[in-house]
This record gives sequence, C-alpha cells and structure tokens, in this order.
Amino acid sequence: MVLAAMVWSEIPNAHIGDVVAAWARQRAHDDAELLIGMVHLARSTPLDELGDAEVGRAGTSYAWGSSEIAALLTLTPTAADRELGLAEHLHDHLPVVLAAFRAGRIDRSKAWMFCEYLDPAELSAAQIAVVCERLVPGASGWTTRQLANRLWRAILAIDPAYQRRKCRGAVEKRGVSCHLDPITGTATVSARGLPPDEAAAACARLDRLAETARRKGCAGTLGQISADLYLGMLDGRFHGLAETQIIDALIGDTELVREGVEVHIGLPTLMGRDEWPGEIAGVGPVSADVARAAVARQYRGGSWEFAIVDETGQLLHGGFLRSRPKTGGDQNCIGPGCARTARRSDLDHTLDRGKGGDTVEENAGPACYRHHPDKDRGWALSQPVPGRFVWTSPLGRVYTTRGEPIRHDLPEPQPAEHDEGGRRHPPSGSTHPLAAGRPAAAATARPDRDRHRAAAVLVRPARTHSAHRWCTVAAQEPR
Ligand SMILES: [Zn+2]
Repeated sequence: MVLAAMVWSEIPNAHIGDVVAAWARQRAHDDAELLIGMVHLARSTPLDELGDAEVGRAGTSYAWGSSEIAALLTLTPTAADRELGLAEHLHDHLPVVLAAFRAGRIDRSKAWMFCEYLDPAELSAAQIAVVCERLVPGASGWTTRQLANRLWRAILAIDPAYQRRKCRGAVEKRGVSCHLDPITGTATVSARGLPPDEAAAACARLDRLAETARRKGCAGTLGQISADLYLGMLDGRFHGLAETQIIDALIGDTELVREGVEVHIGLPTLMGRDEWPGEIAGVGPVSADVARAAVARQYRGGSWEFAIVDETGQLLHGGFLRSRPKTGGDQNCIGPGCARTARRSDLDHTLDRGKGGDTVEENAGPACYRHHPDKDRGWALSQPVPGRFVWTSPLGRVYTTRGEPIRHDLPEPQPAEHDEGGRRHPPSGSTHPLAAGRPAAAATARPDRDRHRAAAVLVRPARTHSAHRWCTVAAQEPR
C-alpha cells in the first residue's frame, strides 16, 4: 500500500511501528534525492551556452551554484553552502554512503556524520573506501554518537597522524561569531578554531582576573565577572588599561567609552513615547529599552542618520544617502535572502561603472563579498525602480529583492496582565537627551492616559510619511 494513502487512525497497532519506520526510510530517500538535485542544478550549463531542451552538466559545480540554490529555496547563503557542500561531498567522494542514504538505510544525520569525519582533503580515496566498507553496512543499527565513535576509531587506526593534520586545518578556519538568542534576547560571542594552548592561556588570564576582582570586592559570581571582563576587553572599554586599572574600573562601575554600534530605532521609541523594538545591525532585533540604552551610551560623538520609510517599511528617503551612499538605506546586502549588513558590504553599481553606471542612489546598493562577485559569475542585475533589485540567474530564473524593511509591520503592544503600573514605559536608566525630562512624567502616568499619549506619536504603517521617521543612529565613538 502507498504510504501517503494510509490513515494514521486506522493503522493496526501491530503495524504502526512498521509504518513509522517506512516513513523514516522515505524521508531519508527524499532528503538524498534533494541533495543530488542540488548537485545537478549547480552543475547545469548556463542557458546562453545551450539550447532550450538540451541537457548539459559540468564536471564540477559553477561558482554561482550555491547562490542559485539559496535564492531558489530561500536559504541563507551559509545554509546553501552547507547543503551544497554536503551534497557534493556525498556525490563525489562517498558513493557507498550516498547509495545507503538513497535507499533509506541511513538518514541525513548519519550521512552528515560520514561527511564530517571522512574529509577527502585529509584522507585518500582508498582510506575512505576502507572505512565506508566497514561501517556503512552496520550504520543503520547505531545512533549517530555510536557511529561517530566508530568512525573516529577507524580513522585513527588507519591514519595515526590524522588528528594533528585536522587540527591544523581547523585553526586555518578560525573565526569569531556573534548571534542573538531569540528567546532571552541575549547575545553569544564565540571564537572557533583556536589553538588549544592559546585558548587555555586566554581562559587562565580571564579566570585569574575574575578571581582577583572578586577578592577585591567585585559583586557577582565568578562566571558573571568573567563575562563582564570578556566583553569589556573585546569592546574597547578597557583599552589601554593595566590589569589593576581594569579591576578598579569593574568594581567602580565607571562609564568607559566602548566601540560604537549601529542602532536602528524609531524616533518616538527613542523619545520614550512607545515601546517598538529596535535593531542592532548585524545582531538582530532588541527590545525598546535595550535599543535606547545602546543609543544613550554612545550619544556623545555619534553621528545621526535618518530614514523616512513607506507603508511597507522600505526606504523612501534618507538624508545620509546624499553624502555616504555606501551605508545607504538598504539595511542588508541586496543579494537574494542575504542578511549581511550594508556596513559589511561593498557598494555595488547595478550598472557597472565601466558600462556608464554612476554612483547615484538609483544605481547603487550594498552587496556582500558573496553576492558582489555574482555579477561576474553569470548573474544579471537590474534595478527597474530605485531600491528594487532584479537578479537573473545563469539558469534563467528571476529573483526580486528589496532588502529587509527598515520599519517592520508589527502587532500593537498588548502587555500581559501582570505587567501593570506603567511598566511599558522606559526604565529610568534610559537617559537619552531627547527623552530627558519626559520619562518621569510617563512613568507616573496612568495606563489609559499612556495609551492616549502613545497613540498621538506612535509610528503606524500606511498613514502619513511624517509619521514614519526613523533614526538610524550610526555612532562611532572617537577614540
Ligand atoms: Zn549578500
């Protein structure tokens, strides 16, 4: 019987386990086919080199292949690279694993595990074949953990120098990342691929400083103090200070100058009149009080930019574009699905300067290191109306991008029952000069009156343009 035709509530108890297992095999098969499809797509000869009904595949993937997959399946560039990388690895180097995956005998997680461990840059084809022959047949009976242990043991047995080489390769790929936890709104900064001895030395120094600070009376757990030290050493607050001065600064809670960050916040929100979320560029959305505090901390010396947006939150006009198009109204790279910030992108000329394109708003948009070169890899780009970018892929597919809106359409605030007594208003710590003198009045106002006040200045979509004024505060504190 066909799986899709089965009705769950009618499957006899004696068979329901078989049906669930059959679905798992089916899913593995589908996952494998999707990956194989990606390899074929990334190797399909561009249309301009081929007749309409012809089939043509290159031996390796085109450089634009991952961009096409990202746009087609609305994946981030990173996810598209990861999927295509997995697909190519299985297709080109692990045929035995791919066959088992396609037959539904192993699932995606196990196929992934084989790829993780069997790196063709490190192991010869013969070594990989031996490991696969020994482990693929039994893999359906092991968990991913059990499989990983078996792979690792087999590799160390077959090639004792493997771990040393692998460590060297990982160090070459070292980097730092910052991401937002959407549940708690806190951020995590981490570094990967560090040489273990240097990482241990860094942690030892952090531990020693934290212990000294606590002995000297710094409040908080060792973990909290370590985190404060870690952040302060990275964001520049402790720049030029000796260790004893760092600890004094930590205990004294003195306000030190740190690196500036780009904050996107509505003018009424900045003034403490509403609680719309703001955004820290490159990190993500943050609550109104966090955005206000970030602005307040770096007001001195910061530069201000404003953007007027339309009812969909897209840029209509921005004062800063006149002098600095590079950091213009497009918050993100204009590549399909790309979230890299404009500040980390190059200015792309929709019509290249070599072909007569000017550096004007209507012919410019930020493109990241990944999407900027796509135009030299067979993609065509046009900008039929300012701010709307039309990408045509080498396979003839068309993707329109506009970048993420500056102003998002958000639900009206509906504070929870227990959040009463004016708590919707900015905390007293919000000390932006524009809000000065107002928070106290707002904090004592009754909720119904607050709503009335807020409604008078609330930024709403699709009313008048003057109500859509946003401040993009790009403050770079001078050192
Ligand atoms: Zn991009």
